[in-house]
Amino acid sequence: MGSEASDPAGVLHLVATPIGNLGDITYRAVEILKSADLIACEDTRRSKILLDHYGIHKPLVSYHDFSERKKTPGLIAEIKNGKKVALISDAGTPGIADPGYRLVRAAIENGIKIEALPGPSAVLAALVVSGLPTDRFAFEGFLPVKSGAREKKLLSLKEEERTVIFYESPHRLLKSLEAIRQTIGDTPLVIARELTKKFEEVFRGTALEALKYFSEKKILGEFVILIHVK
Ligand code: SAM
Repeated sequence: MGSEASDPAGVLHLVATPIGNLGDITYRAVEILKSADLIACEDTRRSKILLDHYGIHKPLVSYHDFSERKKTPGLIAEIKNGKKVALISDAGTPGIADPGYRLVRAAIENGIKIEALPGPSAVLAALVVSGLPTDRFAFEGFLPVKSGAREKKLLSLKEEERTVIFYESPHRLLKSLEAIRQTIGDTPLVIARELTKKFEEVFRGTALEALKYFSEKKILGEFVILIHVK
């Protein structure tokens, strides 16, 4: 027996949205968002900017790290009642470094049909622009915040042959670069900042060079760090 619900049951659409440039959205994503009964998003104010831009006016439900446990049963119930729910995140592909996967898991457990609408994600945009090997890569999400756990994680990657990719927040960038230098060494790395946006920048150098470069300026924006250890 198939595990997916058949019509007229609802559906969960996982819709990728831009990571900065509002033009980076697929025709199909716009169509699906226009036809959805409900859009689940992280920050409703942030998503409204994109949705207004495309003339999409649908009920929004906030679904983020702090609410997902509470909100999941309600969204699942809506889909089981035949609603088409589109899940988007603040930027990029829902489920990549955000709580989206929990809703997907709950949908699977409930036999709900799930469709992914592929599109932007910072991890892939950073990888292809980096110039580092793309044939094999390891996406590590955000490095742990606590220094002990961060060092342990980095030490575990010391022999990694694949390109390693981290997301990083501006206020932890220097700490992470210093931790990379101390654990892995003065490794070649790439830092992709504000991809697809006005202040897009791709830094290529070593850990020490990056520390020097970024400690001399105000650190603003969104960052992806990519390292190639071996
Ligand atoms: N779901 C998103 C995706 O598919 O890329 C990622 C969500 S995660 C909570 C946010 C992190 O992604 C940021 O802290 C940053 O590391 C990275 N990121 C998102 N947009 C970016 C951009 N335009 N340039 C560089 N990094 C970006």
